[in-house]
Amino acid sequence: MIVYSLRCAKGHAFDEWFASGNEYDKMAADGALSCPECGDTNVVKAIMAPRVSSGTGGEVAAEPSCGSCAQEGACPWAA
Ligand SMILES: [Zn+2]
Repeated sequence: MIVYSLRCAKGHAFDEWFASGNEYDKMAADGALSCPECGDTNVVKAIMAPRVSSGTGGEVAAEPSCGSCAQEGACPWAA
């Protein structure tokens, strides 16, 4: 599962979970994404802001995922 920060054309920001990045692409292409506040289907991916928790010093970084590497062992994410 992957969470994307999305934003509608009216500026409402919200998070949506997807099974994968491809799932997001497919839903976006089908116009299946809509703003929970106003129902606008003109939704775009907002810039991902890192989630920083203040005080505990614990930052949660998203794991990079690779779906396009054809060469096993050459993937920079596999190290
Ligand atoms: Zn909206």
